[in-house]
Amino acid sequence: MSAGDFFYPRKMGMIILLGLEEVMGVNGVDALLQLAPLEEFSRQSLQAGKEQAIPFQKVGLLQSTLEQAYGPRGGRGLALRAGRACFKYGLREYGSLLGITETAFRLLPLPAKLFTGARVFADLFNRHTDQKVRVEEKDFKIFWHIDRCPLCWERKADEPICHLAVGLLQEALYWVSGGKVFHVEETACIARGDPACVILMDQTPLS
Ligand SMILES: [Zn+2]
Repeated sequence: MSAGDFFYPRKMGMIILLGLEEVMGVNGVDALLQLAPLEEFSRQSLQAGKEQAIPFQKVGLLQSTLEQAYGPRGGRGLALRAGRACFKYGLREYGSLLGITETAFRLLPLPAKLFTGARVFADLFNRHTDQKVRVEEKDFKIFWHIDRCPLCWERKADEPICHLAVGLLQEALYWVSGGKVFHVEETACIARGDPACVILMDQTPLS
């Protein structure tokens, strides 16, 4: 397989587009897509295509264009917020597959609920996209290892840059815990030369 052979499904592209539109507005997103240029993420293109999928390279380009347009800090803030906004669109699209609305899941104690939720969520990426995720639980923390990551695909950076994933996981924890806030931080990134992108999530809430 060559680098160009990895994809997000069109549905995932639409979820990212809706998340971005929520934080930047339709015009802001249009301007961003023209700047890149990233026709693949436009509403017309996403709605028109039947089997069309989005190459990882374009997902990486979307994040780097955000930083180019708004500066590293501004781009990071927007990506985090867009990631959080994406969660509910993802739930709408894939929620029935996750099974985490079931009673047995709801009755689990919080740390087990968070870890089970993370495993089920990782499975969704593994089965429905070319992104590869492993989850591990250690010392009251969950480690979300992204072994193949679209967000920093073909990018180089001094610091971790997969902010969209951090925002998405923050919101997932908030939702699963029924409104609690947790420390979530990306501690390793392929763009920095690490073997995987790693997002650490505390299982003990901040509030
Ligand atoms: Zn990454």
